[in-house]
Amino acid sequence: MKILLATTNRFKVREITEIIPDVEFLAISDFTDHWEVEEVGATFEENSLLKAKTAAHYFGIISIADDSGLEIPILSYFPGVQSSRFLEDRPFEEKMKAVLERMSSFDKPEERVARFRTVATYYDPLTGQSLSAEGVVEGSIAERISGDNGFGYDPIFIPKGFDSTFGELTDVIKNNFSHRSRAFHKLFERIKSEALP
Ligand code: IMP
Repeated sequence: MKILLATTNRFKVREITEIIPDVEFLAISDFTDHWEVEEVGATFEENSLLKAKTAAHYFGIISIADDSGLEIPILSYFPGVQSSRFLEDRPFEEKMKAVLERMSSFDKPEERVARFRTVATYYDPLTGQSLSAEGVVEGSIAERISGDNGFGYDPIFIPKGFDSTFGELTDVIKNNFSHRSRAFHKLFERIKSEALP
């Protein structure tokens, strides 16, 4: 069975195909270069379902979407569900500098706590069945931007138990325990027991 990944983010596609290697995924870029679903939901759950359902109905195939973000408790969970809209269309370097700037008065370890969260949602356009799973990875905000692996906010996020940012760690290490890895492994357990014949 082929499943469509409802994203145009090639980094996400690469990570997901490495996390779940035994499934044949299609990507939106296999069909079109122009695809955007406005993330109008108030939560990762709502946006993840919205993206999966829209793609599933439009392309007529089972689809999975991933909605993710960085949450910084001391900044009231900013950027959170706004992660992709914060300084939209600006380079990530600028977005990360803006986050570090907002964190500049917080230097205690407990103040720099952060986490990445992913909600992955499966949607079958024939049955209307949807399944979701969440994955979280705890960590902290680095003092400076480091590394150029991964994508998005990876170079300013240090996962718990490490001294390096996700931007400095390899894909293999990130994919071992990342928010996305946890969400997709849980989602596929649910799909295998609740959706597939
Ligand atoms: P969305 O899930 O595509 O809406 O992504 C939300 C925002 O979080 C985007 O700006 C992404 O670049 C960023 N983001 C999502 N996943 C990750 C990740 O694994 N590492 C770093 N940034 C991420």
